[in-house]
Amino acid sequence: MPFVNIKIYEGHGKERKDEIARRVTEEQVGSEWRYTVTDENGNPIAIGNTRRRPTISQKRLAQTLNPTCVFPGCRMPARDCDIDHRKAWTDGGPTQEHNLVPLCRHHHRLKHRAWRLEKLVVGEYLWTSPLGLTYFVEAQPP
Ligand SMILES: [Zn+2]
Repeated sequence: MPFVNIKIYEGHGKERKDEIARRVTEEQVGSEWRYTVTDENGNPIAIGNTRRRPTISQKRLAQTLNPTCVFPGCRMPARDCDIDHRKAWTDGGPTQEHNLVPLCRHHHRLKHRAWRLEKLVVGEYLWTSPLGLTYFVEAQPP
């Protein structure tokens, strides 16, 4: 996988790091890139990749932090689940640990229809149904 280092100079704002990295990598349609964004002193301030599929270590971390499917009431062990981009890849959701959660196939498909999933903190989620009802979910052992 190719690698690119993007240096952010003072005045460009660190808050734009993901936008800049995404813009650069979007120019490489179909390629998979790993990138590091550094400040003007070369200190890393963000890392990421343009891979849609999570790496094995990203998948294992998502499964460790969330031992089961994170849909309300579902007890499907995370090892038997899909790894979902909480914010969809097609909407700019990165393949990074903070955006990956285990969902069983059934609830993965359901989420992409009309449910909304928000991450509150690590292991705590808020689901909103198509009717606007909300459900709090806390990661627990299966
Ligand atoms: Zn489920």
